[in-house]
Amino acid sequence: QKEVLSPPADPPVKVVVRIRPANVHEREGDQLVRKLSEDSVAAEDKKFTFDSILDSKSNQEYVFQLVGVPLVKNALAGYNTTILAYGQAGSGKSYTMWGPPSAMVENQASNSHQGIVPRIFQMLFSEIQREKENSEGKQINFQCRCSFLEIYNEQIGDLLDPTQRNLEIRDDTKHGFYVENLTEEYVTSYEDITQILIKGLSSRKVGATSIHSESSQSHIVFTCVIESWCKGTSSKCFGSSKTSRISLVDLAGLERSKLDDDGRQCVKEEKNVKKSLSQLGHLVNILAEGGQSGKTQDIAYRSSSLTNLLKESLGGNVKLAVICAISPDSNSSCETLSTLRFGQRVK
Ligand code: ADP
Repeated sequence: QKEVLSPPADPPVKVVVRIRPANVHEREGDQLVRKLSEDSVAAEDKKFTFDSILDSKSNQEYVFQLVGVPLVKNALAGYNTTILAYGQAGSGKSYTMWGPPSAMVENQASNSHQGIVPRIFQMLFSEIQREKENSEGKQINFQCRCSFLEIYNEQIGDLLDPTQRNLEIRDDTKHGFYVENLTEEYVTSYEDITQILIKGLSSRKVGATSIHSESSQSHIVFTCVIESWCKGTSSKCFGSSKTSRISLVDLAGLERSKLDDDGRQCVKEEKNVKKSLSQLGHLVNILAEGGQSGKTQDIAYRSSSLTNLLKESLGGNVKLAVICAISPDSNSSCETLSTLRFGQRVK
């Protein structure tokens, strides 16, 4: 009874650039990146074109309308949907994805800082309710289960159970692809989601380098698998069984400096982050160009924990949005150019 999906109307990969407002230490006029139009920017005499450019005036609701609303619709239509937030530390990835935890517990109308992820689930649960109510004689059931993990230094940790570290990725014929012993929570409401998000985000490892004490060198991945099926055997039920996976990924920041107090550990972390981000770019590129599977692609997936883990979220029946977060500070020019190049490469 699996539904045959109609051909995708929009491209499998959408890339948006978000330039955050300057903070008190930065001057907006110093910007390296200039917005030229709704879909292009200039940086160092080069023009970069994306699907959309969001400048400091674009608020959280706008980002949600642009990226979140299509994601919810695609997820309910049975596509696997993924958001990747890419950029240097302090460029606005976490703000865009989650927003401040305090903003999650209020509804979005009353808190303009709420991130795209809580907004997505607010919409998802109201759409599920609507589908149930409008199901015209058939009984549609939904089941949603979530997990939240962190990849730090190539090791996978469970953000919902911080005692679980160094988890293994398994791939077997019975279960398919999964992380062994990772906590999965069944959720039925927006409140369930906010509890999980708040719990997981508070367990996130914070990079303890003296230069960026707030910045994180870990990738975090929130996943929600939605299954829906129809009860009964009536012909009305035909084609209504669907499974889709929503993967929301806040990538480790591209660190600016190699300075550290304690030497070797930090250098190793940077190498892993760099390597996994570059492999990720390679895979997204394959997806954008039509996503043929093959041996090269298989090797690329296996090259880092991140790509291995995102295998189902980056290939096949997937809709991906990449949010490239950019700081307006001219001191960040190397990282900004590198972020724009990543976005360009995967477009
Ligand atoms: P990252 O996750 O990339 O390290 P953060 O999301 O923590 O960066 O952002 C760094 C700082 O900038 C935070 O204090 C955050 O609240 C603020 N910030 C980021 N983007 C915006 C924005 N669009 N509007 C207002 N403040 C922002």
